[in-house]
Order: sequence, then structure tokens, then C-alpha cells
Amino acid sequence: MSRDIHIVQLYPRDMNIYGDWGNVLVLKQRLKWQGYNPVVTEYNPGDEFPADADLIVGGGGQDSGQVVIQQDLQALAPSLRAMADDGLPMLVICGLYQLFGRFFKTHDGVLIPGIGVLDIETHGGADRLIGNVLSVSEEFGEIHGYENHSGQTFLGPDAKPLARVRKGEGNNSKDDTEGARYKNVIASYLHGSLLPKNPAIADFLIEQAVTRRYGSYEPVPVADADLAELARLSELARSHAANRP
Ligand code: GLN
Repeated sequence: MSRDIHIVQLYPRDMNIYGDWGNVLVLKQRLKWQGYNPVVTEYNPGDEFPADADLIVGGGGQDSGQVVIQQDLQALAPSLRAMADDGLPMLVICGLYQLFGRFFKTHDGVLIPGIGVLDIETHGGADRLIGNVLSVSEEFGEIHGYENHSGQTFLGPDAKPLARVRKGEGNNSKDDTEGARYKNVIASYLHGSLLPKNPAIADFLIEQAVTRRYGSYEPVPVADADLAELARLSELARSHAANRP
């Protein structure tokens, strides 16, 4: 019997830069290695939201992309908040990370409202924060990735950071926090993509998704041959990122 896991990729048309699509590739492949059948639905503005989401993934985007999706995202807000409260695993990167917070005020003064899953706010700065990042989390160890954002994100009292920055900037140029956590929501500024470089995060999301759907999860070790395939996918994601304007 094939055991499906439904992944929803939020707004791939407008929110998918620097190879963020690689995150879904990694989740698909690692689910297959564990004997599950990943079913991916791409959700764009105006689509019907799938009723059976097990895992939600969203990427980064330009300010203009964030403006395009804002209305649709607000319509989804109550159900996304309810799913986050209920422990549904989600991964949101950069542009969608910002919009999972209270708001993003761009450097041009445009206020894009967020959906308030995370107690954070983001203010666009004159300078972009660009470069490789090394951060460390108690839960996942070292987290590696690439950042490129004008928004500077500040955590409120109800938000906790995903990690502490050792190299690069992370949430902002003032403190050493990177990303945010709420229940099984993982939010990060890091592209790269994130999951090929940090498979522990992928495995956490998979564990939560499978346990919620099927009641338990007993992972089998990933064979060496599969790790070679993972390296190939990672390289593919990297070259895809390098080829984007
Ligand atoms: N447009 C947002 C910013 O510049 C997000 C960028 C991104 O997703 N990389 O801060």
C-alpha cells in the first residue's frame, strides 16, 4: 500500500528564488527513501488550497512578488494559522518567512501585511544583506546557507530564533539571530537551497509530517548510493540558482 505524504508548495510562480525549489526536491527524495509516496501540489494565487496538506513549503521572492501574493495570502491566513497551531510542519524561506510575521515594510515604504504566525516584524533597509551564512542551532547543529535580502527582521517576545549566526547576518545586522521557530514551523532567511545543505531539517519536517498522518515514524538509514543522489540534487539546485538573474 503506498503511503502518500502531501506537500504543498506555496506560490512557486512568485516566491521561488535562489534555488528554493530544491527544498521540495529534497523532501520528495528523502520521503521516497523512507518508503513514502510524495505528492506535490503547487499552490498559486486563486488556486483551490488542497484539503490534505501534510507539509507546507514556501520560498523567497522579490518585493514585487510579495506584493503580488499578499491578497491571496491574507485569504489563506486563518487556515495557515490554524494548521501551524495544530503542529503541521512548514518551511518558509526569506520572502515568505517575512510574510509569516506581522508585516514587511519595504525600503520604498510599501507596507505588506503578514499573517502573524510568527511574532516578528521586518523593515526594508537601504543595504541588502548578501552572502554565505553559518549559523548554529541547538536542535539541528550547524546550518549553512546563502542570504540576500533588504528586509531586516526583528523577533518579538513570542518568537524564538531558529539559530545563532556565526558568519553572515541572518535576521538583521543588529543581533545574531537567524530565522524563527513556532511549533513545527521553521522559518529561515537561508537559500542555497536550505535542505540539500541541511538534511537534518528535512528529516525533522518529514518526521513531523509522517507522525501526524500515520501515527508513528521509524526512519531507515539512508544508503550511501542515496547520499550520492542527494549530492547530485544539491548540485542541480546550486546550478539552477546560479543561472537565475
Ligand atoms: N524581498 C525580500 C527582501 O529583499 C525577500 C528577499 C528574498 O526572498 N531573498 O528582503
